[in-house]
Amino acid sequence: MASLIAAVVAVTAAEADFRYPYDVRTSPPQGWTTGLKQVLLIRADFSDLSSTLSLAATVSGMEKVRQKYVAMSYGLTDMNVTVSPVYILPNTASYYAKAGWEVLANAMVAAASADYPLDADGGVYDRIGFQYPPPPKAAGNILSGGIAMCGNKWFWIPGGGGGSTIFQVIHAEHEIGHTYGSGHDGYWRVTDGDPISPYGKAHETGNPYTIMGGGGPIKGDFTAKAKEQFGWAQSQLVITSGTYRLYRIDHPQTVGTPKGLKVPIPGEAPGVYYWLEMRRNFTTNSYEQNGLNILKAYDEFRIGTCLLDLNTPGSSLADAALQLPQTFSDGKGVTIRATDKGGVAPEEWMEVEITVP
Ligand SMILES: [Zn+2]
Repeated sequence: MASLIAAVVAVTAAEADFRYPYDVRTSPPQGWTTGLKQVLLIRADFSDLSSTLSLAATVSGMEKVRQKYVAMSYGLTDMNVTVSPVYILPNTASYYAKAGWEVLANAMVAAASADYPLDADGGVYDRIGFQYPPPPKAAGNILSGGIAMCGNKWFWIPGGGGGSTIFQVIHAEHEIGHTYGSGHDGYWRVTDGDPISPYGKAHETGNPYTIMGGGGPIKGDFTAKAKEQFGWAQSQLVITSGTYRLYRIDHPQTVGTPKGLKVPIPGEAPGVYYWLEMRRNFTTNSYEQNGLNILKAYDEFRIGTCLLDLNTPGSSLADAALQLPQTFSDGKGVTIRATDKGGVAPEEWMEVEITVP
């Protein structure tokens, strides 16, 4: 399954440092992640390079993104998307590729400001996207793939490239996810067979079940941690030993709650948890269908979570899920045992017996 990991990492590997050029905001203003968002997607070509995407492909692609956000948020957010005509910028692809994100953003804002109420602070818009033709790869290039400012307005997505006429929905879903405030969903990479090995390392991306890790645009979703941060779904804090029920995190109609459980990790700072979440969109993955995922919170934005690989750690994330009946023990006093599952879509649930020190 190394190829799976490689494939999902490839989705985001080209992404530049999303803290540049604008500030990240780990605590965006209230209401940043809920309600109707005014989204302007500015399309621009370079003087010697054009996007291979049509207006129609971009408009229908962004409509899929909008619908996905409505679904993932249980209707708590929506987007009013405006897609601009194409502006031709004065300089060449190689110029912008080396000049970087901020220069490109300034040029695109300047071009579009004649037609839209827009300035360098974003004007009336809640999110501003820049769709640009990806320059040919060359030494010294800064522009590559997508980028976004965590918890801020701005995101960049490539418009076609290599002759492609297909709008990459996952690019827009993922970058807009950063603007809502999510970091990446990675995994805890180990080589000694211990899923929480202290010798392991946080790999920045690679959770194949989330749009911020490398999961696909249809089945992928946010984590329970992100949905709680966004105010979309509550998780339950576990501070006493007992049996707890949780409902799936990845269906827009699920009413049952909580949709996540969070267990403080002994010895870590307050607020650092094991996050338990269950998914049922991956219907051909028997481990996902019969289990729940345990993620370790990592930091607040760059790597939001690390998926623990509880079966064959180090070789495959397809079997990462804690199985029914299986016990995870962290050696520090926390044990988590899957004891039951039930319900029919969209109200599937699992029960876990959790002991805390
Ligand atoms: Zn990213």
